[in-house]
Amino acid sequence: MSNLSYVDAENGAWQTFLAQIDRVAPYLSGDLQEYIDTLKRPKRALIVDLPIVMDDGSIQHFEGYRVQHNLSRGPGKGGIRYHPNVELSEVMALSAWMTIKTAVLNLPFGGAKGGVRVDPRKLSTRELERLTRRYTSEIAHIIGPQKDIPAPDVGTNANVMGWIMDTYSSAQGHTVTGVVTGKPVHLGGSLGRVKATGRGVYVTGYEAAKKINLKVDGAKVSVQGFGNVGSEAANLFYASNAKIVCIQDHTGTILNEAGIDVPSLNAYVEKNQGVLGFDGAAQIDNEHFWDVETDILIPAALESQITVDRARRLTAKMILEGANGPTYPAADDILIERGITIVPDVICNAGGVTVSYFEWVQDFASYFWSEEEINERLDRLMVQAVEDVWSCATQNKCTLRTAAYILACERILKARKERGIFPG
Ligand code: GLU
Repeated sequence: MSNLSYVDAENGAWQTFLAQIDRVAPYLSGDLQEYIDTLKRPKRALIVDLPIVMDDGSIQHFEGYRVQHNLSRGPGKGGIRYHPNVELSEVMALSAWMTIKTAVLNLPFGGAKGGVRVDPRKLSTRELERLTRRYTSEIAHIIGPQKDIPAPDVGTNANVMGWIMDTYSSAQGHTVTGVVTGKPVHLGGSLGRVKATGRGVYVTGYEAAKKINLKVDGAKVSVQGFGNVGSEAANLFYASNAKIVCIQDHTGTILNEAGIDVPSLNAYVEKNQGVLGFDGAAQIDNEHFWDVETDILIPAALESQITVDRARRLTAKMILEGANGPTYPAADDILIERGITIVPDVICNAGGVTVSYFEWVQDFASYFWSEEEINERLDRLMVQAVEDVWSCATQNKCTLRTAAYILACERILKARKERGIFPG
């Protein structure tokens, strides 16, 4: 499927993305289909070596990436991931999903993503800062408020964004808040940004539940990942009287069929950095997570989680993709066959980048909105996205994922076509 000389991953996230593009192609008009190859290769991919002086005086090398998948609709946008398994083809896929995501939400951005292969839990704060500053200086020539705007992703947070903003600004000679989003609020960040992705998962999930007549009140919910996204989604479902029965994170899996007390769990995780050992639930085997009886399943960790085997076993009526790319295309087919509704990642987790867009706008205007205003605008855009995707799916008799890709690819490829191919 991929004829790129520098990609050899056969079954990874990039292959998933290519398969998703192949699925949408037949739905596009002939004049747009002509440009579809534009989506099957990133516009630009930068690989950087990051030599870092560790606290013990030794030097360690880390590999970093920034990939700009498509810039037809505006500057690149997308997070930076710090994770031990980060590799080029994964960052390519994540950048491509950003292209689709910003287009479905009609945000004026293209898609980009960055990453460093590192386990941030194994670094001291000083080492993490040195790594972040070196990474920023190595990618500084391709990022900027009008070029490509990074943000947090798995393993990074507001502090990391603050260091990126400071390093970039030092080189420019003045403060450039708009170079990253997801910054600390007092450094030009936006209220509501931290919780925005989880909030979007809840809002899109709630809308989709109404459409399939699934009552959130009393529904059983299982969540994979209890970081920024999973924990906020769990909080909001809990506040709506759903029963959070099962949670899995990097430390293990916990189950309480009567419903986990999420506020107590939050306090526990704050202290213990993981869900394992929480006394309000029992520990179960990690693989058993996929068999637990549940109405709503929220994969909110990493890509490539729902395999064919797990798709056959899981009991949920609805899947909310809080993570990027959690479902393999072949597993998608099984879930569809089984009548399970999937709210795809490109709308389900788009709350984060939507409030990132608000942050970028606020930074330009140097005028900041209240949290209420932000949440109200976020909810409106997310509800509209579900409506648009739902009616596109009904019209084309296709899945929500394909419908989201139809809307996005039409916008992206129309921009590509209208801009024309240089030098013509
Ligand atoms: N990393 C997040 C995502 O995958 C947010 C990206 C952003 O805010 O630019 O959507």
